[in-house]
Parts: sequence; structure tokens; C-alpha cells
Amino acid sequence: MTSLRKRVLVTGGAGFLGSHLCERLLRDGHDVLCVDNFFTGRKSNIAHLMGQPRFEVMRHDITFPLYVEVDEIYNLACPASPVHYQFDPVQTTKVSVIGAINMLGLAKRVGARILQASTSEIYGDPTVHPQREDYRGNVNPLGPRACYDEGKRCAETLFFDYARQHKVKIRVVRIFNTYGPRLHPSDGRVVSNFIAQALRGEDLTIYGDGSQTRAFCYVDDLIDGFIAMMDADDSVTGPVNLGNPHEIPVLTLAERVVELTRSSSGIVRRPLPQDDPVQRCPDITLARGLLNWSPKVSLEEGLRRTIAYFQDELAEKSGVQGE
Ligand code: NAD
Ligand code: UDP
Ligand code: UDP
Repeated sequence: MTSLRKRVLVTGGAGFLGSHLCERLLRDGHDVLCVDNFFTGRKSNIAHLMGQPRFEVMRHDITFPLYVEVDEIYNLACPASPVHYQFDPVQTTKVSVIGAINMLGLAKRVGARILQASTSEIYGDPTVHPQREDYRGNVNPLGPRACYDEGKRCAETLFFDYARQHKVKIRVVRIFNTYGPRLHPSDGRVVSNFIAQALRGEDLTIYGDGSQTRAFCYVDDLIDGFIAMMDADDSVTGPVNLGNPHEIPVLTLAERVVELTRSSSGIVRRPLPQDDPVQRCPDITLARGLLNWSPKVSLEEGLRRTIAYFQDELAEKSGVQGE
């Protein structure tokens, strides 16, 4: 419980990360306003919070203006899975750019601190490894991932311009692949795909030869990083990388999931999507130094907890998408 009770807006609050963040903020004693258009978010992610008097939910698309009175804003609204953000790429750019303008306009009017959920994807297919915040990236501006990558890059630009031009108190975190309970079984991201496939006894779909690398952060660690960043001194604007620097090939992740689920699933190859980054791993020196933050949960422990969630989820819904 923090000493100061704040009114906090979480956009994208019914999504995977947003629901964990709302839960944490309520636990810390704050009033939470969850704003979501339920494109990829689900009511079931926040159902357990609904009865709490300090929790409020608003169905709203942040590409439209929003007039509320709050002390802090976490701007998470944006589909994060490549499958979802490529479904309607124009809307993805709109939510990233127009959504950021609206939330920055709101922050400016009410004097709120505002944190942007940026992404490792702004580094594109990186030529520098591991990625530090001063690396400017290698994004294909014309490819199928560009709506997300360039949208998020433009959002970062807007954050820094609102800070310089209008003195808005900004924080920008660049999130690397994060996983955990409440990832949707059909979200399309690699951890949820592999666990759902393994539990259903289906073959795990490896895109390409599986040698591409990622570094996976457990959700609770990431939320600790969000809070540390928001609570930091206003001079700490970022961008700051948040992620787990334990890097592994996608094929190794598949093997771990099969082991931990004790599944009889095999592995099948699928074509590598265009512009899929070959390697990705955060350098978190800055987060360690500025925020005294580093991830605590090992991949094995995080996968166990996520597998337990998926076991319940798949048993309850028998694979049918829930509300
Ligand atoms: P998610 O898809 O589960 O959550 C996104 C939420 O935003 C959903 O609830 C969705 O309904 C909502 N949303 C989408 N468009 C909206 C709009 N126009 N107005 C209001 N709400 C809208 O994804 P997530 O993994 O929870 O990601 C949350 C944020 O973190 C995103 O901004 C994403 O880019 C960023 N991020 C996540 C990861 C990760 O590994 N999870 C990595 C990098 C960045
Ligand atoms: N905005 C909003 N909520 C507010 C204040 C502003 O949604 O409480 C939106 C507003 O619609 C505007 C955007 O944020 O389009 C940017 O606001 P800003 O004040 O920076 O720009 P201006 O209103 O001058 O265009
Ligand atoms: N991937 C895979 N099989 C899947 C889903 C994803 O091999 O069923 C790969 C994907 O090609 C990428 C990595 O796993 O190399 C991570 O993909 P994800 O969509 O989770 O996130 P990204 O880091 O690409 O945004």
C-alpha cells in the first residue's frame, strides 16, 4: 500500500498486461479507471476486479478524445500480437499515433504523469545485439510489421515533443517479449501458441528453423518495472528497456514447453513471417541503474505458472474463445 492514493487511468486495461497492472494498482490502494475497446482484451481478464469500489471500467476507443480527471496514465491500448496488429494495420497506426495524441492531450490538460508502453519492436530486425536504448533500430517502414513498429516509434516522438513543448511529465518503457497468465490461448504469440498446442496434444508450430532468438520476461516482473518507472523522479523520462535478458532460440522454447507440459506433441515447421527479427535481447543496464529493477522469475518458473493458467482456461472453455 503506497502512502498516496492516486486516480490512475490504464488504457488497454482489459488486455494481458493491462489486467495485471489494474490488479497491482488496486492492491497498492489506488483508484483505477480501466479504458478498453475490447478489441483483444476480455472482460474475463478483469472479472475478478469488477466488484471492487475503487475499480471502474469504460468501453472507449482511445482514437477518440477522452475527458476524465486522473493523476497518472498508463497508455497500453494497442494490439500487441503480430496476428492482431496486422488484422487492421490502419487502425494499429491510428491507435498508436492518434491514441497517443489524445492521451498526451489529456495528460497536458490535467497535469498527469503518463507512461507509454513502447516496444522492442522499435528496434526492428536489430543489427546491434543486445539492444541498448541508444540504438536507433532497423525497421522496414513498408513491411507488414510497420504499422506497429512505426506507429510506436511515432508515439515515442510525440511523447518527447509533448515533454519539450508542453512540459508533460512522460515516461517511455520499451517492453521486450512478456508472457504469463491471461495471454489468450489464440492470441497468436509464441508462448501462448506453444503452450496451447502442447496441452491439446497438437504439434508445436515453429516458424522458420527456430534459430531466431527472443528473451522472455514474466509478467509480474514487468509490472514491477512499470511501477518503478512511474514512481521514479520526473527527470527519468526513458526510453528504458524492460525485459528479461535470458535469450533463447524459439526451438529451445518449444522443447521446454513440451518437457514442462509432459506433452507427446511433436514439432512442425511453418514459413518464417516477413521481417521476423532474427535475434532480440534487451540490455537492461539502464533499468538496473535508474530503477534498481531486474527480473526475478526464471523461465522455468514463469512457464509453470503460465501452463497452470492455460490448463484451467482450456478445461473451462474447451478451447472456445471466452468473453
Ligand atoms: P493485449 O492485446 O492483450 O492488450 C491490448 C489491449 O488494448 C486490449 O485490451 C485491447 O482491447 C486494447 N485496445 C486495443 N485498441 C484499443 C483502442 N483503440 N482503444 C482502447 N483500447 C484498445 O496486449 P498486451 O500484451 O497486454 O500489450 C499491452 C501493451 O504493451 C501494448 O501497447 C503493446 O504494444 C505493449 N507491448 C507488449 C509486449 C508484450 O510482450 N506483451 C511487448 C511490447 C510491447
Ligand atoms: N484531448 C483529450 N482529452 C483531454 C484533452 C485533450 O482527449 O482531456 C485530446 C484532444 O481532443 C486533442 C488531443 O487530445 O485532439 C491533443 O490535445 P492538445 O491540447 O495537445 O491539442 P489541441 O487540442 O490543441 O489540438
Ligand atoms: N513463432 C513461432 N511459432 C508460433 C508463433 C511465433 O515460431 O506459433 C516465432 C515468431 O516467428 C517469432 C517468435 O516466435 O520469431 C516470437 O513471436 P511472437 O509473435 O510471440 O512475438 P514477436 O517477438 O515476433 O513480436
